Amino acid sequence: MDGIRDWWEQRSEGQMTKYRRPPYPYCPWCAAPLPEEDPFRQECASCGFVLYHNSSPCVGAIPRDEYGRVLLARRAIDPYRGDWNTVGGFLRYGEDPIEGLKREVREELGVDCEVRDFILMGADTYGPDGPALLNAYFSVRLLSGRLRARDDIDACRWFAPDGLPDNIAFESDRQALRALFRKVKRPLGRGEEA
Ligand SMILES: [Zn+2]
Repeated sequence: MDGIRDWWEQRSEGQMTKYRRPPYPYCPWCAAPLPEEDPFRQECASCGFVLYHNSSPCVGAIPRDEYGRVLLARRAIDPYRGDWNTVGGFLRYGEDPIEGLKREVREELGVDCEVRDFILMGADTYGPDGPALLNAYFSVRLLSGRLRARDDIDACRWFAPDGLPDNIAFESDRQALRALFRKVKRPLGRGEEA
């Protein structure tokens, strides 16, 4: 089993270090060399295909409980393995963002959620030299069920606003948490609706 895990970890790290920012050298359709003057819009002179480079859309869920605490997840994968971040991930091609958010919460925590408020959108990268991200954050209420960290995370924990961990993975996560706490102003008392 260790052999498989080592192989996977090496493979994961390899994928991160092999990431290349645009411009890309070849057309994905016909393999002709691409012009590199505009790294974010590359038009193939051979077949006419235009390769646009955009940030990858991601969604982050911030569950809150009746005490005003927020749930964060500990990353089990690179980048930022071992650091805490919001539950969420990459949207699939063409996926509705709210459906994607619910899917990610289900995949990582094993429970369904009710999406409450939009918090903010933040630009970030997936690791220091990683691809560009556009992260949309929402506060959510978790529906009943047994919380179970799985998929890309190995733990999840409730944190009070004044007791957040120092190692939060993404700058856009930190922005979203600050914005959320500004919006709610104060922790909710027991029994108040989150
Ligand atoms: Zn082409």
